Amino acid sequence: MAILHGEELELNLALGDKVNFALSQLSLATPYRPDKALSLRSSLAGKVRILIEDRAQVEAIMALRPDFKLVQNQGYGTGTKFNLFIAVFGVIVAIVWSFETVLPHALATVAPLSWRVQAGASEEMDFASLGHICQNTSADLAMAKLVGVLATGDAEMPNVSVHIYDLSFVNAFALPGGLIIVSHKLIEQAERPEELAGVLAHEIGHVVHADPETQMIRRFTLNLISDPFGSSHSGGTIAMMEQFRQSRAAEEAADDYARQTMVAAGVDPIGLRDFFSRILKRERGGQSNNGGLAQLGSMFSTHPGTETRMAKIAPLPDGKKPKQVLDEADWQALRKSCN
Ligand SMILES: [Zn+2]
Repeated sequence: MAILHGEELELNLALGDKVNFALSQLSLATPYRPDKALSLRSSLAGKVRILIEDRAQVEAIMALRPDFKLVQNQGYGTGTKFNLFIAVFGVIVAIVWSFETVLPHALATVAPLSWRVQAGASEEMDFASLGHICQNTSADLAMAKLVGVLATGDAEMPNVSVHIYDLSFVNAFALPGGLIIVSHKLIEQAERPEELAGVLAHEIGHVVHADPETQMIRRFTLNLISDPFGSSHSGGTIAMMEQFRQSRAAEEAADDYARQTMVAAGVDPIGLRDFFSRILKRERGGQSNNGGLAQLGSMFSTHPGTETRMAKIAPLPDGKKPKQVLDEADWQALRKSCN
């Protein structure tokens, strides 16, 4: 039997003992329901349940603790479980988020070079299944010259090797270990070597930021979560291109690197903008004629946010004369690299 005395609830125990609980120390043990007995617990004695069946007593308590009615649908007990659920859910989100973002990048930046090179070679096999590599000594020399010019704009530029592949689409990719894949069609679409230099500078930006390694580790960890036994494998060019799609933030950072490096090397940055705008126009045109086919493996399916990024590309500062990045013979050697 419980009786309310002022702000205190007096509980009559067996053998005539009495215990008093301050109403302020009591909370709902189960959600309040007007048709049920009021079930309370004390913050001082968590395991003790006080059940009040007398309606007059319940009304008197409710008058002093109107907040009990507020948790009618979500009583104290349920609230705790809900909070626990939110906490567990939050921890899971944090783990998945770190698998998705922070962790892969952290791992990518500490991965040994030998691992990166091996990872790059294994990803290159994906491209080898789509087209053949074009091996041409004079083209390789010309490409090395082009990279060398860009390297004058970044004293800490890592070693990169560029492989030209005879692929059916216009695109370039950075792979782990400093390997860059350029489709021959991209070189054909470039009207001057500065345009190719711009694309290369952008891809080198991905290399510098360890984006390909980050992407590879992210894919690996997400596969572990979603498909721990590796039972399902998605194939085809679309799935493969999806693998190489960089985030918008990574794209912008690669552009920033390209702009800075080109300006420092004295290479006209407008080359990158001209190239982007021509390909964008071409792909838009292709899209209306051939539907999805034109988009397959396209530059902009793997390089999001191009238009806003293009607007940021400005010419060399006043008074800085652009450098000639390649002579005509070298440029032609590159354009004929797959012949
Ligand atoms: Zn990119």
